[in-house]
Amino acid sequence: MGLFTKDIATFEDLFVHGLQDIYYAENQILKALPNLIEAATNPQLQRGLKDHLTETEGHVSRLEQIFEMRGEKPKGTKCPGINGLISEGDSMLGEVSDTRVLDAAIISAAQAVEHYEITRYGSLIAWAAEIGRNDFADILRENLAEEEAADENLSALASKVVNKRAAGKPASRASPSRATRSPAKKPAKRQPEKRRARKSA
Ligand code: ZN
Ligand code: FE
Ligand code: FE
Repeated sequence: MGLFTKDIATFEDLFVHGLQDIYYAENQILKALPNLIEAATNPQLQRGLKDHLTETEGHVSRLEQIFEMRGEKPKGTKCPGINGLISEGDSMLGEVSDTRVLDAAIISAAQAVEHYEITRYGSLIAWAAEIGRNDFADILRENLAEEEAADENLSALASKVVNKRAAGKPASRASPSRATRSPAKKPAKRQPEKRRARKSA
């Protein structure tokens, strides 16, 4: 934290704070992901989360590389943002009894974390480029690309399989079903479908 405390004087200080913040966050995510993996029942979801756990280890290493390139020891700074997301996810999962619904809840908790990481990497990449450290920006972009891919995979798995099971419908094989089964109240609102999901699910 300490975004407005006096230890941040320059733009580069702000970058370093952000680096410490995401370093802390990635380490918290490393600790939190095994709980999600254990709670997940859908095998694809479990595998996807496991793969992302491995990727997250790589994210920590890449961040350590940047600290080292700066001639510093890797250091984290407590980030209440990620702690809030993780504890919100934990308590939500504790409330869900149906395992099919639980898988949908796990995906939403995981995606909240991915979106947090995406926004932080976005700022850090822009700042690194601005302070003339395109070498840092390139490394950070590798993390960002994996966060974005993880997010897209989760969206695809949710819309094709997990949300359907949670709703008590069969998983769609090819395209999402057009059938609307809602009884005649008002016309069912069309959910905007995710167009960017390309991964197999
Ligand atoms: Zn912070
Ligand atoms: Fe990450
Ligand atoms: Fe991530």
